[in-house]
Amino acid sequence: MEPYFDIVIVGGGPAGLTAAIYARRAGRSVLLLEKEGFGGQIASAPKVENFPGFSAISGAELADRLFSQAEALGARLELEEVLEIRDGAPKRVVTDYGAYLAGAVILAAGMRRRTLGLPGEDHLAGISFCAVCDGAFYAGQDVAVAGGGSAALQDALYLADLCRHVTVLHRRADFRADPILVEEARGRANLTLLPSTVVEALEGEDHLTGLTLRDTAAGDVSHLPVSALFEAVGHLPESGLARALGVPVDEAGFLAAGEDCVTPVPGIFAAGDVRAKAVRQLTTACADGAVAALAACAYN
Ligand code: NAP
Repeated sequence: MEPYFDIVIVGGGPAGLTAAIYARRAGRSVLLLEKEGFGGQIASAPKVENFPGFSAISGAELADRLFSQAEALGARLELEEVLEIRDGAPKRVVTDYGAYLAGAVILAAGMRRRTLGLPGEDHLAGISFCAVCDGAFYAGQDVAVAGGGSAALQDALYLADLCRHVTVLHRRADFRADPILVEEARGRANLTLLPSTVVEALEGEDHLTGLTLRDTAAGDVSHLPVSALFEAVGHLPESGLARALGVPVDEAGFLAAGEDCVTPVPGIFAAGDVRAKAVRQLTTACADGAVAALAACAYN
């Protein structure tokens, strides 16, 4: 017989881990399934300065703390990829390792990273999606960051402490990043913000040696020699499992569940970045985790 859990949570980021904490404290049996690494996107954030209670904490440490708290409360946390969720009472959650039965399921799978989609992106050394993981390899060298959001600016600031020079390439004139980060970046001597610029091509045979850039306003094409490009161009929702279950999504693919985290499919709840919402922050992900867990407890 497959093991039964009152609540199965799909996704081990802040939303999923918070849901596990709340559901365990409400006395439910909890299984949390994560396919890559606990902590989600926040685990690779260099520094978190907007989580209440911590003036500054590394994303990895915050992720560790969330994990430890959920584990200490008795949640079972497994690194398994969920392949399918079959509706019913109970629901059946099939992973790459086995299968589980669930009274209710909380979908908190978050988002997967978007890429620039350039030729060579998948095999050239020097292309990275994680400044904290790979930045040290390029200490003392010239690097670039693609993107104009808070993640891109945070990565650039982190890299500016290690690298000789950092160029931020952003496709529009205005940065959508938190203005405080843009201001800080403007104050760094070895950091250049290059708005209205797109990467046209990656240069190099095995290892990145430079970028071909195009100025979107003037149309000029230029060449920027760099050893690495850190891509931070946002994310796309991980909503495939939910779609297959019949949970409706909005035009961008985010799960259509309101602030109560309840989806139209009974016993299926949505929490965190994967849910259609106006503000995607660590705090709102955690808030969703709490709301979804309590809704799932009320259901089950
Ligand atoms: P984001 O805010 O969605 O920014 C993605 C950036 O990538 C945008 O500037 C976007 O350009 C650009 N972009 C998207 N597709 C592109 C393409 N094909 N080519 C070139 N550029 C492309 O994503 P994020 O920075 O990962 O942040 C995600 C969420 O986490 C946000 O809500 C953010 O506020 C939050 N966050 C907060 C902090 C913090 O310290 N407060 C830190 C990290 C993340 P456009 O602007 O032109 O669309």
